[in-house]
Amino acid sequence: MTAEVEQLELMALPRRLFAATPSKLAAFDCPRRYRMTYLDRPAPPRGGPWAHNSVGAAVHVALARWRRLEVEHRTPEVGASLVRRHWQSDGFAGADQSEAWRELAAEWVRAYLVDEAGRWADGAEPRGVERTVATRTSTLAISGRADRIDERDGELVIVDYKTGRSKLDSGDARGSMALALYAIAAERTLRQRCRRVELHHLPTGEVAAFDHTDESLDQHLGRAGETALDIIVATDTLAAGADADEVFAPHPGSSCGWCDFRRLCPEGSAVSQSRNSWAGLGELPGERG
Ligand code: SF4
Repeated sequence: MTAEVEQLELMALPRRLFAATPSKLAAFDCPRRYRMTYLDRPAPPRGGPWAHNSVGAAVHVALARWRRLEVEHRTPEVGASLVRRHWQSDGFAGADQSEAWRELAAEWVRAYLVDEAGRWADGAEPRGVERTVATRTSTLAISGRADRIDERDGELVIVDYKTGRSKLDSGDARGSMALALYAIAAERTLRQRCRRVELHHLPTGEVAAFDHTDESLDQHLGRAGETALDIIVATDTLAAGADADEVFAPHPGSSCGWCDFRRLCPEGSAVSQSRNSWAGLGELPGERG
């Protein structure tokens, strides 16, 4: 029996629901990375922590904790102090670099919360903070945790905090499968219409937004279903004894330099340079020009 025939037979079998999270679906951009992340056991060793992830983690924790404080304690300065309290120096070149970025991240949060104060009517609160939302289709059990879910003019709005150095625009919000799946799942979980998705970029304070239509959400859902089917077929084919590097082939490309499994991947190593763990930080304001 050829591999193609085996694969067609596997596709014809009744399918279980695939437990899909946005990060799981995104990992399949490189099937080998997906396999190493979700299937290989014992789990292969990853590279060390990235400093830019430490920045993102502290900002996300600070903004979530800030929202849970009593209203009278929610000042921008308290938001900045929460960044300092939850700071981890993993991945930085040393203490000086870590402290400089800690203070920059604290200032991002302080300035963001100043802007936020003008966006909220008195007494209004988000519908969810780090809220898990979930839904099902005939083939997918989708779940994920949204940074924040707002309610505006009777509809829900998905808010995702971003701390990367690249600026973002409405095309990024429109193209994000994660945000679309959060919108679909939030509407189902909270029983309220949800079409708007927003990326809140802390380094610039800018908001990139997109208002989905039923059609654009369906397109994302369709793509998620196709990816899930590819994952199911590859997983079943591997379990049936196929070669791991054939059914979960590497997709070397521009993201290999950031991949946690690069050291274990000859194809990815061949197309990328080894990076310092702080390479994703970019420049501090005082270092420019
Ligand atoms: S290094 Fe590149 S090709 Fe290798 S697993 Fe990572 S993303 Fe895939």
